[in-house]
Amino acid sequence: MKLSPHTAPVEPTDLLIRFHNQVGAAIDVTGSLSRARWSCHGCGDTGYEYAVHLTREDTNGHATACRAAYHRFQR
Ligand SMILES: [Zn+2]
Repeated sequence: MKLSPHTAPVEPTDLLIRFHNQVGAAIDVTGSLSRARWSCHGCGDTGYEYAVHLTREDTNGHATACRAAYHRFQR
């Protein structure tokens, strides 16, 4: 059983930005500059696909609120 936050998962090839939530779990922004989405390794939530400057704002909001360290389900 993994008890520590998922801080450094394998970097996807289309990784654009990596944020960390309140407990250090990674949140990856992937895709392209015109179509990017985020995925949280702490709680498993994902964001909608937007231009990267909008996705960055959305991801930062999630990182500020999320306190999950690890999840076991797949979306
Ligand atoms: Zn989260």
